Amino acid sequence: MDYSIAFTAALIFVFVASVAWIILKLLRLNVPVVYGRHEAGQFRFRIPTRLSWVLMEAPAALFFAWFVFTGPLPATAPVIVLFIMWQLHYCHRVFIYPFQLQIRPGSTTPARMPLFGAVICAACGYLNGDFISRYATHLQSNDWFYTPAFIIGTFLFVLGYIINKVADRTLIQLRKNNSDTYSIPFGGAYRWISCPNYLGEIIIWIGFSCAAWSIAGITFAFMTAANLIFRAIENHRWYHDRFADYPQERKAIIPFIL
Ligand code: NDP
Repeated sequence: MDYSIAFTAALIFVFVASVAWIILKLLRLNVPVVYGRHEAGQFRFRIPTRLSWVLMEAPAALFFAWFVFTGPLPATAPVIVLFIMWQLHYCHRVFIYPFQLQIRPGSTTPARMPLFGAVICAACGYLNGDFISRYATHLQSNDWFYTPAFIIGTFLFVLGYIINKVADRTLIQLRKNNSDTYSIPFGGAYRWISCPNYLGEIIIWIGFSCAAWSIAGITFAFMTAANLIFRAIENHRWYHDRFADYPQERKAIIPFIL
């Protein structure tokens, strides 16, 4: 398939950034983790955490919508269903999640975080939207709904969505109960792993890429996994260091394995 120069460049950008991240992490080079529990307030330019989430995630929703509806292929029923799946996640991330978060008193986010995140989110919104509306001729027929790729992908998307949202909600509830500190999460998939929210997120994007049968989708899923697997390992170590009674049998992100 002949992809445009812009599409190829964005695909290479996301892929190379993911591989570079994996290499840096494997070499244990000191990449500063710029938000949340691993950040020690060392960055000077900071913004409110809720605003940071909105600025960072909005480009994914906007770029995706723009490219889906301005591309050369018509928005058929499979395209609309994929559009709804994408926006179910991103509209939640922009309009609901930041306002559910219980922010630690006085906590802000380094400005570089939404800056970098917004570029990545824009690239992924563009890549996925452009793929669907320009190259995905397989989505032009309603027969796509009956293919194993669509059925399995949609199942994974819904499964990942539920795991992610339930796990995020557990953390929000923990913070509500104990407003200025961290506690050990229990229940749901926390029985088996420290970061079910990250596992759910990875499953969401594997599911989406499968349902859309999309090179853009799988590149995005790869980037998400590259980022979140390492962060889950860091969170897991952090829990062990901080809580002497942390459940020993719990893994970081893949039950019984990692
Ligand atoms: P975290 O688990 O680090 O934090 C989520 C929220 O819960 C924060 O407000 C955090 O507080 C609070 N929190 C975390 N652990 C505890 C605890 N043990 N006790 C009390 N409060 C706690 O998640 P992220 O911010 O990294 O991610 C949030 C969502 O965004 C997830 O669903 C994740 O999958 C998604 N995400 C997706 C990415 C992608 O590549 N697609 C990249 C990053 C995130 P505090 O801020 O004070 O630490």
